[in-house]
Amino acid sequence: GHPQHIAIQIFPYAKGRRLLLTRDVTTIELAEAMRRDFVANVSHEIRSPLTVIAGFIETLQTLPLQEAERAHFLELMRQQAQRMQTLVDDLLTLSRLEGSPIPDDSQWVAAADLLTEAGTQAQALADVLHAGQQTLVLQPGPALEVAGARGELLSAIGNLLTNAVRYTPAQGRVEAGWRLLADDEVEFYVTDTGPGIAPEHLPRLTERFYRVDRSRSRDSGGTGLGLAIVKHVAQRHGGQLLIESTLGVGSTFRLRLPPARVLVRERA
Ligand code: ADP
Repeated sequence: GHPQHIAIQIFPYAKGRRLLLTRDVTTIELAEAMRRDFVANVSHEIRSPLTVIAGFIETLQTLPLQEAERAHFLELMRQQAQRMQTLVDDLLTLSRLEGSPIPDDSQWVAAADLLTEAGTQAQALADVLHAGQQTLVLQPGPALEVAGARGELLSAIGNLLTNAVRYTPAQGRVEAGWRLLADDEVEFYVTDTGPGIAPEHLPRLTERFYRVDRSRSRDSGGTGLGLAIVKHVAQRHGGQLLIESTLGVGSTFRLRLPPARVLVRERA
């Protein structure tokens, strides 16, 4: 636990008499410390790509470069600008999710559509990162619809899938799908044969900007906000995010959602 912080106020209310008021301000101080950490993190995440871009601009302005070199520097600058854009998009998403407790425009969404759409994006990323070598398997479950905000659910499943693709090496395998649980609850799962996550990191994984391996996560294009977004989406939908992982074996992320509208019952 954290040390307790007590605020003490002393009121002299009569000659020689004082009233002592104590108030536990531990949670207030913790919230304030978290806010400061968050601002420091955001500033740092924005400053690094900016520094790189500024450096390349200076290079382009001062050095006589061949056309191929110019093109190379411009491409590196584009990548850094893209990184900042993704970061700002994720920050806005997170701030919207934290601002209201319920999903906007809740509707019935077909599980198959969510998996297909998120899967298509993940496949495109896998092709770029792993030259089409990684095995990505989409395993459809029973025909059903889940209640929720389409965009939010898509970004949650998309985040889990892109993480799996990014952290799993080219020779590895990523599988995603959904299944029906007791009481018609639905579970989307994404499982990979990646590096796995040591148990001590698991409880903190959904914190904003928490990364197991800072530099590797950044190199792979992560903002450090993905799992925080997934957790918020899960909670807003009355569900939860479960993480299981074994170091050196792989990880499974499960997005549990409340009872679905089952369209076709499969026989057990
Ligand atoms: P990031 O943008 O860094 O991926 P996330 O919030 O999505 O941020 O994930 C937090 C951290 O959890 C990552 O930096 C990575 O260390 C770890 N992680 C997430 N998904 C996986 C995975 N499938 N396999 C191994 N590590 C993972």
